Amino acid sequence: MVKILCGVDLGGTKISTGLVDEKGNIIKSIKIPTMAEKGPEEVIKRIEQSVYDVLKEAGLKISDLKGVGIGSPGPLDAKRGVVISPPNLPGWDNVPIVDILSHKLGVEVKLENDANAAAIGEHLFGAGRGIDNFVYITVSTGIGGGVIIQGKLYSGENSNAAEIGHHTINFNGPLCNCGNYGCFEAFASGTAIARFAQEGIQNGKDTMIRDLAKDGVVKSEHVFEAAKLGDEFAEELVDNEAFYLGVGISNIMAFYNPKRIAIGGGVSTQWEMLYDKMMETIKKKALKPNAEVCEVVKAELGENVGVLGAAALLL
Ligand SMILES: [Zn+2]
Repeated sequence: MVKILCGVDLGGTKISTGLVDEKGNIIKSIKIPTMAEKGPEEVIKRIEQSVYDVLKEAGLKISDLKGVGIGSPGPLDAKRGVVISPPNLPGWDNVPIVDILSHKLGVEVKLENDANAAAIGEHLFGAGRGIDNFVYITVSTGIGGGVIIQGKLYSGENSNAAEIGHHTINFNGPLCNCGNYGCFEAFASGTAIARFAQEGIQNGKDTMIRDLAKDGVVKSEHVFEAAKLGDEFAEELVDNEAFYLGVGISNIMAFYNPKRIAIGGGVSTQWEMLYDKMMETIKKKALKPNAEVCEVVKAELGENVGVLGAAALLL
């Protein structure tokens, strides 16, 4: 019988666990709260339970599984199967999640950081199919990525390659979550869009963005919404976002010389608003030979990328 893949997308707020066939079709998936505040032991118990629950819902059993793939926030060491200390998983300190779960479940367990897993998922099942040199970028609250070189994930010396969000765009730029200044993420993430909007509002910009943020918390969605309604300041922010994306992507073309770059994450859902200005910037800034062979596309797997990427670790 063909074995089923199980993918676990471990996040700071939710755990998504899905059963996937070898072609990347999701058979069944469930989502539960992570309850990260309860610490690693409880979270791992919840992962284990979610695997049994999704199997039960699908009428399958653990012996039907080829294994369980886990996409987790970093930093982690994929080779050793250890989650080191992700900022959004409090209390985790070098947790050997692969050993613990493979012992509990009795199947093969694989671990990769979530952005790398997503890159593998897009490479096997989505926008990177058949592309040997491929980069996946996720732009949401942060910016992450994964790099496929000659058909294989490039993970670096200790699983920290392709920290695309933390290459410096301008060393005099805004403070980044990593402690450095002016990273790509500090300019072009969804969080950055919201921060630029907030700064504008504080400086007295005439904009409807604040009115759209009904609870007072400005998010990137409000900026895109205002821009669609013709708000000039919001349009300027969207233009800036497209420009920063173009700058970062031009650098990525220079680093890795990919044939295709796929952009996923929440901000990529505004693709039509960003595409022209982003491509115009790439045309101006990227190295010509690199840009000529590279297409920039929207990622295909959407919200399922976490589960599909984690499942793809088993292939
Ligand atoms: Zn950074």
